[in-house]
Amino acid sequence: MLGLIKGMIITWKSNWRKPVTVQYPDESLPLAPGYFGFPGLIYDHEVDEPFCVGCQVCARYCPTDAIFVTMKDNPKFKEGTSKRRKIVDSFELNISRCISCNICVEVCNFDAIEMTDTFEAAGYHPDVVAGIPALIEMSEKQRKGVLARPLKETR
Ligand code: SF4
Ligand code: SF4
Repeated sequence: MLGLIKGMIITWKSNWRKPVTVQYPDESLPLAPGYFGFPGLIYDHEVDEPFCVGCQVCARYCPTDAIFVTMKDNPKFKEGTSKRRKIVDSFELNISRCISCNICVEVCNFDAIEMTDTFEAAGYHPDVVAGIPALIEMSEKQRKGVLARPLKETR
């Protein structure tokens, strides 16, 4: 009997407890510091180009083959405005394959890629691919402290 009364008191008290749920996706709970979502490309604002030179090291080490990257000669190097001889030409991250393991960040010799807190990438196509603009946007948002939102731009 006593146990029943105790249980009812706990239930009754919960009527006045603040809800722990939020109206996702309109509202989001703050992410834990250091949360790993998907990697993004870091932008070099001094030179106005990505740090990525398209060396493909990250693509080779990625355990899920989620990265496809190509390089090209950097026109800014010829102009003398950049020290990078080569620059990324295309960079595609298959979001649906990425397991957020951080390996691509660890192996990059150019500090060109970082883990971001972007994690919402649901889509109707089984392969959600993020290209250079979307990957740079993810990194920029991360650095500006903007809350991660779904990827709007892919490829
Ligand atoms: S992110 Fe780094 S490792 Fe990957 S292609 Fe660019 S420079 Fe190379
Ligand atoms: S975080 Fe891991 S799985 Fe995702 S792209 Fe980088 S290396 Fe590949």
